[in-house]
Amino acid sequence: MPGSIRLFVPTPLHEGAELAASAGQAHYLATVMRCAVGETVLVFNGIDGEWEARIATLRRDRVLLRAERHSRPQMPEPDLWLLFAPLKREATDLVVQKATELGVSHILPVLTDRTNTSRTNPERLTSITIEAAEQCERLTLPVIEQPRKLSAILADWPAGRPLVAALERAQAPKVPPVRGPAALLVGPEGGFTRSELDALRRHPLVVAASLGPRILRAETATIVGLALLQAADGS
Ligand code: SAM
Repeated sequence: MPGSIRLFVPTPLHEGAELAASAGQAHYLATVMRCAVGETVLVFNGIDGEWEARIATLRRDRVLLRAERHSRPQMPEPDLWLLFAPLKREATDLVVQKATELGVSHILPVLTDRTNTSRTNPERLTSITIEAAEQCERLTLPVIEQPRKLSAILADWPAGRPLVAALERAQAPKVPPVRGPAALLVGPEGGFTRSELDALRRHPLVVAASLGPRILRAETATIVGLALLQAADGS
């Protein structure tokens, strides 16, 4: 069903499951897409794969769907984390949207010495991940963690997960393609401070990596870094 409408629903999916669309989804189906009762859309919840669901009730403010057919099984996503220093609002939104499209499983906002802002808006970021997952045919949403200090993250970094740190002007090798668990760290617009760079270089699981000779904006660096990391298996 190419180009079908896809909706994230936070409820269990099985044959005959009755699903109430959110107010935003009802507006989209009834007013924007001008759907009709009896038409089908695709739904997913991050756990039960993708289902074809038929529109049973359609009002501008209320749409009910009934799940009918399992169209895709749940697929494992790449085990890839993104650590990024929160940016101005539009740039943060872009990073979260692109990270979702590029298959990131966990998004960890990192507070560095030069991080532009220490606050993120989890509801807003979650709604961005939902829209991006619906659009890119992904079957899960990335988990958005609470912002944490870089030093705290490094102190309890899990074994077995290389942390690829994008460092400009570091004479480091290009970001390597990886298989298995991995993470990408991108710094703030002002870059990492000297003491942060020292801490990163001392950490046994940090791999310093370059994104080329030009200094990229943090959001560009995120997109390029995630693409290069996944170049091995095309995820
Ligand atoms: N203000 C810094 C400077 O002028 O040196 C630049 C920081 S850059 C705008 C933001 C982040 O993007 C950096 O901390 C780094 O993680 C990443 N980045 C940008 N260009 C990069 C490159 N060529 N190689 C590796 N990382 C890069």
